[in-house]
Amino acid sequence: MSRLAELVRDRQPCVVLTGAGVSTESGVPDFRSPTGLWAQFDPLEYGSIDAFRRDPEKVWRFYAPRFAMLTEAEPNDAHLALARLERAGLVRAVVTQNIDLLHSRAGSREVVEVHGSIRTSTCPWCRRSYELAHVLGLLEEAPAPACSECEAILKPDVVFFGELLPAGAIERAFALAREAQLLLVVGSALEVHPVAGLPLETLDAGGAVAIVNLGPTALDSRAELRVEASAGETLRAVADELDA
Ligand SMILES: [Zn+2]
Repeated sequence: MSRLAELVRDRQPCVVLTGAGVSTESGVPDFRSPTGLWAQFDPLEYGSIDAFRRDPEKVWRFYAPRFAMLTEAEPNDAHLALARLERAGLVRAVVTQNIDLLHSRAGSREVVEVHGSIRTSTCPWCRRSYELAHVLGLLEEAPAPACSECEAILKPDVVFFGELLPAGAIERAFALAREAQLLLVVGSALEVHPVAGLPLETLDAGGAVAIVNLGPTALDSRAELRVEASAGETLRAVADELDA
C-alpha cells in the first residue's frame, strides 16, 4: 500500500476507474458476478433495452426495489478516500461503471458515469427528465413511474444491455485515460468493454496502470502494481499515507 501511495504521489495526474467491487462494501451487489443479479434474473428479460420497450412495467417491477436499495446504501471507505484524494489534488477524476451515485455522495466532484446512473429518468416520448426523488415518489404510487406530460413510462438513465454508452461520458473517459500518468483501477475485473480498453489507452500514451481488485483482471500482466485487497481498506490507507 505504501508503494501504491508512492505511485499516486509521483505519477500525476492520477485518474481512477472504478467498478462494482468499490460498492460491494456498501452492500450493493455486483450485478455481473457469478452470484450476482444477472445470474438470478435473465438480463434479456429485465435488463435489456428490448425488454424495456416490450414491457416497461415488468422491467420496473424488477428495478423499483433496486432503486430503493441503492438510495439506502451509504458510501464506504473507498468512496470517501477517493473524495479525500481528489480534494488533496491527487486524483483528477473518477471514471465509474457504477450507477449508484455513491462517488458523488461521498464528495467526489469529477465523476464520469460511463454506464449512466439512477440520478435521472427520462420520458422516451417527450424526453422530459425527472430527478431520482421524484421518480421514487412516483414509485410509491404506482409500480412504474409515468411522465406527467404524456403518461409514457419513464426509462432510468442507466445503460441497458443493447444500448450504446453515453457518448459524452465515454469520450471524456478516454481523454482522461490518455492524460493519466497513473490509471488506478479499483474493483473491476476489466471485462466489460469499452471501459476495459481505458487502461490500454493509458499504457499506449506512456502512463502506468495500478490495480486494486479481489481476483484477477484482464490486465494484471501489464500493471505496474497489483494489490489483492479490499478497496476500502486499501484506499483509506493510501489517503492516510498521503495526508489527504
Ligand atoms: Zn413525456
